[in-house]
Amino acid sequence: MAPTNVPAPLEGKKRRIGVMTSGGDAPGMNGAVRAVVRMAIHNNCEAFAIYEGYDGLVKGGDMIKEMHWEDVRGFLSEGGTLIGTARCMEFMQRDGRRTAAKNMIIKGIDALIICGGDGSLTGADRFRDEWPSLLEELIERKELTKEQVDPFRHLNIVGLVGSIDNDLSMTDATIGCYTSLARICEAIDSVDTTAVSHQRAFVIEVMGRHCGWLALSAGVATGADFVFTPENPPHPGWEKEMLKQVKKQREMGKRKTIVVVAEGAIDRDLKKVTCEQVKDVLAKDGGLDTRITTLGHVQRGGTPSAYDRMLATLQGAEAVKAVLEATPETPSPVICIQENKIVRRSLLEAVAQTKEVAVAIENKDFERAMQLRDTEFAEQYKSYHITTAANLPELLLPEEKRMRVGIIHVGAPAGGMNAATRAAVAYCIARGHTPVALHNGFPGIIRHHSDEPVGAVRDIKWIDAETWASKGGSEIGTNRGLPSEDLETCAFVFKKYNIQSLFVVGGFEAFTAVSELRKAREHYKAFKIPIVIVPATISNNVPGTEYSIGSDTCLNALIQYADACRQSASASRRRVFVIETQGGESGYIATVAGLSIGALAVYTPEDGINLKMLDRDIDHLADVFRKDKGISRSGKVILVNEKASKTYSVQTIAQMIAEAGKGKFESRHGVPGHFQQGTTPSPMDRVRAVRFATKAMQHLEEFIGQNMDEIDDDPMSVSVVGIKGSKLLFSPMEQVEKKETEWHRRRPKHEFWMALKETVDTLSGRPQATKNP
Ligand code: ATP
Repeated sequence: MAPTNVPAPLEGKKRRIGVMTSGGDAPGMNGAVRAVVRMAIHNNCEAFAIYEGYDGLVKGGDMIKEMHWEDVRGFLSEGGTLIGTARCMEFMQRDGRRTAAKNMIIKGIDALIICGGDGSLTGADRFRDEWPSLLEELIERKELTKEQVDPFRHLNIVGLVGSIDNDLSMTDATIGCYTSLARICEAIDSVDTTAVSHQRAFVIEVMGRHCGWLALSAGVATGADFVFTPENPPHPGWEKEMLKQVKKQREMGKRKTIVVVAEGAIDRDLKKVTCEQVKDVLAKDGGLDTRITTLGHVQRGGTPSAYDRMLATLQGAEAVKAVLEATPETPSPVICIQENKIVRRSLLEAVAQTKEVAVAIENKDFERAMQLRDTEFAEQYKSYHITTAANLPELLLPEEKRMRVGIIHVGAPAGGMNAATRAAVAYCIARGHTPVALHNGFPGIIRHHSDEPVGAVRDIKWIDAETWASKGGSEIGTNRGLPSEDLETCAFVFKKYNIQSLFVVGGFEAFTAVSELRKAREHYKAFKIPIVIVPATISNNVPGTEYSIGSDTCLNALIQYADACRQSASASRRRVFVIETQGGESGYIATVAGLSIGALAVYTPEDGINLKMLDRDIDHLADVFRKDKGISRSGKVILVNEKASKTYSVQTIAQMIAEAGKGKFESRHGVPGHFQQGTTPSPMDRVRAVRFATKAMQHLEEFIGQNMDEIDDDPMSVSVVGIKGSKLLFSPMEQVEKKETEWHRRRPKHEFWMALKETVDTLSGRPQATKNP
């Protein structure tokens, strides 16, 4: 007999989509669940949470619960997974999967979105593969009738990669990996200070049994001296090499040694490389006071970073879209990210490629193992190697190919500026170039060019920049002033100090400055040198790139501020915070922060603010509080970009809300101001700074041997490095200036993130925003 609680066939009923988290927990999983639930409801479907991973699917009953809009309120900022996760042995067996299929049909669910690691996604794919035969078995065993089963003949599976290890091939990042990296970097930064004080060595073990991403990225972000991973094991004799390097570094003045070891680190004979082993080399053979720190589970925990919240939200929303667009023939997708682009990839292929990495390692084919990870991973290794190894003869260029590279910071400080500079300096020294600091921006060199030897132009030594990886602000000084203040003197200084190429770090001012130098080439030969901009600004408004270093640090500072505001309302519960964000004429920061905190509304300069908009948002607020009935334990947030309106300041908007609240809810305004520049740069900004800087230096080297006119004739000789969609590339300034720049608004003409605004509004339930006429 078939059970009586099986729903009628689906016709005329709402589609039911299940969501679960599985495998090890990862920060950001809750954001994915929230996005799936709300997107599903928004698309007229019903959402069901499956508690405790596959365990819940096998147990059924109350473990599979319908989720309403309000049920996921506050999820975004919570670490771990609120719907639970488990490792489920029963699901590994066919009987368990058959019971799971039955439970899904009983609940009327024919689409499953799974957020987990490669194990969970393998299980999911297997489930979909077996689905038709599992249904037949259920009929044969008379557990369900054919009529009950028929409406559920096709199972849709969509994978979301939730894992701190960043171990799935085909995606640059997994949900949780950047938060975990932040925990690791916080720990290493703390250990760093004590290491310097006592001239100690620290060997730090980080997670990653099969994948070295966390170890490598932590090494890059903190400027660690050595990194041990499973994919790129050290060559035989590494112990001696390590001691040689340490000795050299200490001779150059370095007071500390940091080694990062992935849990799964091995040597080329596949023998485990342990922290104890590394410690023995440094302590016994090297005579260094050496300590081991094992970070353990702190790496999994805590509040998700801005990036993980954003990634989880966008991927959760995309997963629902994928379910709705799927046909019975569509292969199961996994939602990935490539550089800055959310993409769908074949779940089967991604899992297969991931498993191939393990096979390649087993076969000692380490080159292949590296290739099978994402492109960023292999590049990161190269950048790490070249910016860490001091004085390796094989990296040095012959005398005649060496340059004097001017390094200058322009505009407001942004997290990662120093990391980019440190990487550029280390790169220069490894290759034999001379890095020259042009202190305090263009006004610095214009005003003080004659103050030698402590003037504004100085060669940078390796040891000077060595500690800059994790430092905020600008160590060589930055200034908003432009070369047009005195082009003549700028050219004079360039000539006097024989600046043969220029590495510029900064935001829209840097962009403007470089544009001026390019145009002035006609009159000043000194500017006929290769010039590259590494975009660095919290506003993320540099044309030619979708990502500027510093913007991630800013987003993290903002969400910290907003989370604190919201939490402060936990007693009254009925408070709205109207927070002003920076960003100049670009609404990027406001919008992406809005996505990461689940803002009720975001006001940007692109759309402006009008009375109708405010009216509607205030009605919406009233509605939200009415429905909330005191369930949520925090306040609501509205984000307003500093230039969104000349009329409606955050104070005015807060007053309007308070008045409309009529005592039912109240309002406060907040201006975090320069707090948004953050203190310590985020790991993402640091890692990307190193990547951009290395690429930029390689780009400058392409012009070695060319004369002034050849350089002048090549549009690529003045360019901006950046990420566009799924690619990292260089764009020629001339073209970017003419075709991609909205000069009077100081922002790119095409702003990729505008498409995200709809997702922010949809997920907060905001009625369609009205643009300013
Ligand atoms: P993490 O990256 O944190 O290890 P994961 O998803 O890889 O996460 P696993 O423990 O490998 O974690 O898998 C989680 C669950 O997925 C397992 O307990 C099991 O229920 C299911 N699962 C894994 N592999 C399979 C498989 N081959 N067939 C069926 N189910 C599987």
